[in-house]
Amino acid sequence: MKMQMTHIGVGIAALGALAAEGKDFSREELNAMLDKLAASPEPKSVLAMMASCYVRIMPRPVGFEYVCRKCGAHTVYPKNTMQMANVLARRRDEAASLKALGLDIAVDESVLCQKCRSAEELGLPTAGTVVKRPAKDSEAKRFLWNIGEKVRIIEADYPGWYRVLPELCEAWVSAKYISETGEILGDGVNIRRSPNLDATIICSVYKVHPPMKRLPVRPGDPSDWVRVEWPHGCEGYDGSRCYNVKSRYIGDLSYDEKDFVSPSRINRLAWLINGKRVAARDDDAKILKAFLSGERTVKDRFGRDAPLKEDLERLRKLLGPGESDPLVPVEPEEVEVKVDL
Ligand SMILES: [Zn+2]
Repeated sequence: MKMQMTHIGVGIAALGALAAEGKDFSREELNAMLDKLAASPEPKSVLAMMASCYVRIMPRPVGFEYVCRKCGAHTVYPKNTMQMANVLARRRDEAASLKALGLDIAVDESVLCQKCRSAEELGLPTAGTVVKRPAKDSEAKRFLWNIGEKVRIIEADYPGWYRVLPELCEAWVSAKYISETGEILGDGVNIRRSPNLDATIICSVYKVHPPMKRLPVRPGDPSDWVRVEWPHGCEGYDGSRCYNVKSRYIGDLSYDEKDFVSPSRINRLAWLINGKRVAARDDDAKILKAFLSGERTVKDRFGRDAPLKEDLERLRKLLGPGESDPLVPVEPEEVEVKVDL
């Protein structure tokens, strides 16, 4: 880390001198530099000590208010699960330090403003309807939703996954096992997602369980089942937990954010480099700094000196000519990975 700082310091000093002469990098200069890097021999990779200690800062559950630099509108994010303020501050700092190195760069923050960019324009669904259930038994057992059920989509940027909450927090219990006032009658009674014995069990409750809240009967409700509020503390919805659901099970998407502004917006921040919009990634600032400072290596995430040449493709994407990235990223192929809560 110390070494990296030294290098940046040297770079800033050298480029500061250039900037003083009014020599900011033009697209042509950047292209020439990219070609030079491409033609350069690979530097010897030096193994550094593995980073062995990480500082983990837990997100605090507070809201985040974004004030648009363009139109002045306030957008209030009720949850700050993504540490949005931190991410935004980091991107702004990164852009400022790259600007000091002579790069024409800014952060495209318009995606954070509900007035400048609608959820629809950004392709961020905020609600959907369950259209499919898993075919595999093992998956279907844990799948809490029924076809036709509406869910609120909290986050939409995991490739192939949504984070969702039930729109209606309700479940079912056989009428035999619940009293008129909601007391459980039985030793272990299953609470189910829908009114039939094959439906997914969300939890089992016992006599000692506090009375369940019976919900008003609706036309069409079977008489031998009782609609109840989803029991708090049960495996499942407890007012704050979200579920990760594969996006293929949810269709009929809607994009009206209402009061809940999608925190996925923070993932759509982009760089404006020489006027070209490129979706921002975490390592971009690091490799751009190294490149503009004339370094041939860059510290990878294990603290090793990796050849900067390995990042040539990304550098070309960031600095070279070409189309701006679209506002709505191209949906990647669905990947079968488990996303932890
Ligand atoms: Zn705005």
